[in-house]
Amino acid sequence: MDADVVVVGAGLAGLQCARRLQRNGLTVQIFESSDGVGGRVRTDRIDGFLCDRGFQLLNPAYPAVRSFIDVPSLDLQAFGAGVMVRKGQRLTTLRASLNQLGTEVSALSSGMLRPKEIRGLLRWLGPTLLRPSSASRATRDSTLADSLDAARVTGALRRDVIDTFLAGVLADSTGASSANYARLLMRSFVGAIPGLPRNGMAALPEQMAASLESQVHLNTAVRDLRETDNSVEVDTGKGRIRARFAVTAVGAEDLEELTGEKTPSTRGLTTWWFQAPEPPLEDPLLVLDASAPRGGPDGPVWHTAVVSNAAPSYAPVGSALIQATTLLDRPDGLADEREVRQHLERIYATSTRQWQVLINHQLPHALPASAPPLIDRSVQRISERMFVCGDHRDTGSIQGALVSGDRAAQGVAGILAPAPRRSNNEPIVKR
Ligand SMILES: Cc1cc2nc3c(=O)[nH]c(=O)nc-3n(C[C@H](O)[C@H](O)[C@H](O)COP(=O)(O)OP(=O)(O)OC[C@H]3O[C@@H](n4cnc5c(N)ncnc54)[C@H](O)[C@@H]3O)c2cc1C
Repeated sequence: MDADVVVVGAGLAGLQCARRLQRNGLTVQIFESSDGVGGRVRTDRIDGFLCDRGFQLLNPAYPAVRSFIDVPSLDLQAFGAGVMVRKGQRLTTLRASLNQLGTEVSALSSGMLRPKEIRGLLRWLGPTLLRPSSASRATRDSTLADSLDAARVTGALRRDVIDTFLAGVLADSTGASSANYARLLMRSFVGAIPGLPRNGMAALPEQMAASLESQVHLNTAVRDLRETDNSVEVDTGKGRIRARFAVTAVGAEDLEELTGEKTPSTRGLTTWWFQAPEPPLEDPLLVLDASAPRGGPDGPVWHTAVVSNAAPSYAPVGSALIQATTLLDRPDGLADEREVRQHLERIYATSTRQWQVLINHQLPHALPASAPPLIDRSVQRISERMFVCGDHRDTGSIQGALVSGDRAAQGVAGILAPAPRRSNNEPIVKR
């Protein structure tokens, strides 16, 4: 046997799975088709700028992040708490102390929003904030749009802030995503302020890979997994190896080809990264546009931010880095650079003539679709010797990927039952 377990894919799920297996005394070989670890969490370094492959934030409140990641060594640069909302000529800042609901409410009532609307938001979100997350999962689920209607979340708060913000976060402007998932996401924002590691989001998987006992085999796409009576034969394209178990930790789009499991549907987005000689504003906040006549953005950009305001390490001194996120679910297809620039000029009320595109990341499978009912903790053992994991088996998030990888490893280790080197309840990092 060449290894106890083969792990296919070195995204966050595969890395966490491999780490947990090794901590349980098992030998692991990890194969990754691309040229680096991290999957959807990678960073391009371009002319001194850090451009994550799709704008995303690390939320230190995620329980799995707290348990498995050495957060202090990532040196997180926090985004500001709150958002800015462009509506026609007006740019409103909604500051929020996300640690205290009361403060958040008073912040949200800053002129643009009415008490009736805030009461609706509390009806929708309050119970999720007050009870354990497992209870929120058990609550009957519906689409986000239906649940907001039912809670009577209406008016400008609904149209201009909640719908626009969540569309960008869920890569879904239709409101068809799971309400329970949206509430869990909002709950995680209340728990802490997300941020960006000093060395880019890639620092997260790099930290995880550094603690592995064996090297990840990069540029090695597994072509086939075949189960026999007492092993799994793995065709790595460079040869065949045998292991007692295999865990497939690929993204939703690659799952079916390798395992025969049905492809989970996904949602896509693009991130445009611009460099500018100076920031168009000073705030370290996400900026939404709600200038369309019926609310929501009057152009292709669902959210944008001067990333270097929050994370100075993302841009060389004397320049600014701006991200603009568009969704792929719009009927008229991909937005082009001209359209994105024109929209950004309206949002920031400034010319973008001196801005330069550093890169445009197009991510058709950015997130699993998360339709209701929310089924996290999906079955991971698909046959006698094969498991699957990944965010599509939990929630479409860093938290979901980490939990899923850890859960698959515990499943395998439970069967192979070697003496654990340390308890599974013991944190993997010192806190
Ligand atoms: C733009 C964007 C924004 C996001 N924003 C956030 C956010 O703000 N907060 C948050 O919590 N989450 C966010 N997410 C989601 C989060 O990044 C993902 O949920 C998580 O990274 C998924 O990890 P994974 O390990 O499940 O899958 P992946 O990262 O997709 O890893 C799968 C790996 O398998 C490899 N692979 C595929 N086929 C093979 C093969 N045949 N052989 C070997 N290897 C193979 C792939 O190359 C890849 O490395 C965002 C994602 C994107 C794209």
